[in-house]
Amino acid sequence: MEELLRRSEKLTTVGQLAAGVAHEIRNPLTTLRGFLQLQLETKRLNAQHVDLMLSEIDRINLIVGEFLILAKPQATRFEEKDVRFILGDVISLLDSEAHLCNIEFLTVFEQAECRISCEENQLKQVFINVLKNAIEAMQSGGQITIEVRHDDPHHVKLSITDEGIGIPEDRIPMLGNPFYTDKDKGTGLGIMVSQRIIQGHHGTLEIQSRVGVGTKVIITLPLLKP
Ligand code: ADP
Ligand code: MG
Repeated sequence: MEELLRRSEKLTTVGQLAAGVAHEIRNPLTTLRGFLQLQLETKRLNAQHVDLMLSEIDRINLIVGEFLILAKPQATRFEEKDVRFILGDVISLLDSEAHLCNIEFLTVFEQAECRISCEENQLKQVFINVLKNAIEAMQSGGQITIEVRHDDPHHVKLSITDEGIGIPEDRIPMLGNPFYTDKDKGTGLGIMVSQRIIQGHHGTLEIQSRVGVGTKVIITLPLLKP
C-alpha cells in the first residue's frame, strides 16, 4: 500500500515534469519552425538566424539531457565508494574552467574514510551542478571552499561555499522548482535533479545564502558502517 502510494506520488511529479519539459521544448521548436518557414518563403536565412537556430537546438538538447537523468532511475547501480574521491575527481574536472574565471578551489577534506553506498555518476552529476552554479555566481572571481567532514558517526557532510552574488531570501523557496532560473542559458533543472539524486541516496541537500556574501550548499549522506 505504502509502495503504491509512493509510486502514484512519483507519477504525478513525473507527469508534472513532463508537462514542463514539453512546454520548455515547444518554445525553441516554434522558433526553429519560424526560421525554416522564412527560408522556404523568402530564402532569406542568414548566418545570424542559423546561429540562433543552433543555440535553440543546444537548449533543447540541454533540457532533454538533464531530464533523462531523472527518467532512467532503474539503471542505477549502487556501489561502495569513498565520497572524497568522487568529489576530488569533479574538482579536477572543473579546475581549469574555474581558473579561467579567476576562481580558486580550496578543499578541506576529512582525514578518515568516507565510505558510502552510491551511484557514482549520479553523485558526480550533483557535484558538477553545484560547483557550476557556484562558478556561475562568481563573475568577478574568488574562492570556492569545499569541505568534507564526518557530521556524526553515521553521516558525512559536504559543504560547498561560494563568494558569489547570493540568492535573495524570497527566492530560496523556489530553488528546486523545475525551470526556475535567472540565467539566459540556464535550464533551471540542476538543483531539482540534484535534490532528487541526493534523496535517492537517503541524504539531504540544503541551501543557505546571503545576497552579496555568497551561497552554501550542504549535502549530508549516510556513511556505511566501518
Ligand atoms: P540553472 O543553473 O540552469 O539556472 P539550477 O537549478 O542549477 O538551474 O539553479 C537555479 C537557480 O538558482 C539559478 O538560476 C540561480 O538563480 C540560483 N542559484 C543556484 N545556485 C546558486 C549559487 N551558488 N549562487 C547564486 N545563485 C544560485
Ligand atoms: Mg545550474
